[in-house]
Amino acid sequence: MTEREEMPLDVLFVGGGPANLAGAIRLMQLAQEKGLEMEIGLIEKGDAIGSHSLSGAIMDPKALLELLPDYEAKGCPIERAECVDEFYYLTPGGKLKVPYTPSYMHNKGCKIISLSKLTRWLGGIAEEMGIMVFPGFSGTEVLYGEDGRTVSGVATGDKGLDKEGKPKGTFEPGVNLTARVTVFGEGPKGSLIREVGKKLGIFADRMPQAFETAIKEVIELPADSAFLSSPTTVLHTFGYPLGLSTKGGGFLYKMKDNRISLGLVVGLDYEDALLEPYEAFIQYKRHPLIAEIIAGGKVLQQGAKTLSAGGYYTMPRLYADGALFVGDSASMLNIQRLKGVHTAMKSGMLAAETIAEAFEADDCSAAKLREYEAKVKSSWIETELYAARNFTQGLGKKGLGKFIHIGAQYVTGGRGIIDPMAIEKDSATMKAVKAGSGVPEKARDFDGELYVDKLTGVYLSGTRHEEDQPCHLQVLDTDICVNACFETYRNPCTRFCPGQVYEMEEEGGLRLKLNPSNCLHCKTCEIKDPYENIIWTCPEGGGGPSYSIV
Ligand code: SF4
Repeated sequence: MTEREEMPLDVLFVGGGPANLAGAIRLMQLAQEKGLEMEIGLIEKGDAIGSHSLSGAIMDPKALLELLPDYEAKGCPIERAECVDEFYYLTPGGKLKVPYTPSYMHNKGCKIISLSKLTRWLGGIAEEMGIMVFPGFSGTEVLYGEDGRTVSGVATGDKGLDKEGKPKGTFEPGVNLTARVTVFGEGPKGSLIREVGKKLGIFADRMPQAFETAIKEVIELPADSAFLSSPTTVLHTFGYPLGLSTKGGGFLYKMKDNRISLGLVVGLDYEDALLEPYEAFIQYKRHPLIAEIIAGGKVLQQGAKTLSAGGYYTMPRLYADGALFVGDSASMLNIQRLKGVHTAMKSGMLAAETIAEAFEADDCSAAKLREYEAKVKSSWIETELYAARNFTQGLGKKGLGKFIHIGAQYVTGGRGIIDPMAIEKDSATMKAVKAGSGVPEKARDFDGELYVDKLTGVYLSGTRHEEDQPCHLQVLDTDICVNACFETYRNPCTRFCPGQVYEMEEEGGLRLKLNPSNCLHCKTCEIKDPYENIIWTCPEGGGGPSYSIV
């Protein structure tokens, strides 16, 4: 067996998103204020901080303001400082401007950002403060103490293994990063929180996690674009192409340098096995309202990611012996406001405050770390998420019924008609296709500039993986793919995956073919597969998308 080096730290943050970066920075601030000697480390599976960060994103700056009151003077990358919103209902060829926007959708005081740029900037601040930031390292296993229940750190993955798992000439064994407290901020559907959750039961008695998948592009518009000179900076839409029975909607935000951010979010509780979120995104771009704005533009970057949409009733227990759970990993996104950066950052900061107190008390047990959950409960995270506690459920109702629920919740502070409203697991909602139905024709008229196919999208995401490495997608039973799944759902993995990773080859008999090097790390497949037949694991550290402006 290969010897693994051990690197002892005081606190380890797993994941380089906004929750953990804010947490690490806040912890270092507190350590400096209190004179605590602390070795703080942060690992990120992307090749750089920010390269796997993707979001809308309109950020409520209140957590950032608490963390770094002089964030503007420090050069925080803000795309637009003001949000001027418009809200539309779309029909296949028309639009209806919604005259009234609910208060939670108001973006006054919010900033349009690129999450990738923001996290990169936060990563630089963390490094300047003395936090050890390790990009290119994926956490592949949770380490436990002698009692088998106290989290004692994370093992990083080996590098330089071939497809069969044998060491190549470039082999580098992973490292055991040990810490008194490990903070899991892996984003939605983290692969370590999945394991730690099972072992320590942190999701027990909660509603199932719920997710949405967002496909997003940054498009450069011609300098003389009429939209660029209009006062509107934010456009939200619902209706076409998803209709009223599939949760989700579109967004278009104005950025700097003649750029816009354009995306479509699709709730993964959808029922139609033949739905293809990527095709829906292309249809969205071709809607007259959007097509007119983006005419003459060029896609600069594309990406996809899931977001944790379940909210309040799906939040896990937030602590364990030696561990805390933050941000989207702990389902803290406010889906009603379509915002999670501020709640993620605040959760990281509250985790940091709890850790500093635990170190002062020399006690990192669950009994001490549970104070983090109490801090979350008495913070504005609780106020926001509690008010939105039934929102994703209401939005998931079919047709106009959703407006009855959402309206009732609006006037009752979130309680609505039923409280709590149940959530069904995303993997359980798909309906069987009708006997004899084929797969819809895909769009073919891509121009490679403004309308790009999936593979060009993967290229534009900068996704790279070492080809000769063990496959990071585990399909537990391929017989299911060729028999039950084909018969019942016509292999929806070939449609819900935005990276064209899954293909069914027909020559010589139906067979699943995987292209794991196209994987955008969005996690849709593990969430939506109706047989729960796919397990997403971390590929070699440093692989995956290379987002820089999304
Ligand atoms: Fe997303 Fe899974 Fe496809 Fe990778 S393989 S891009 S995680 S759906």
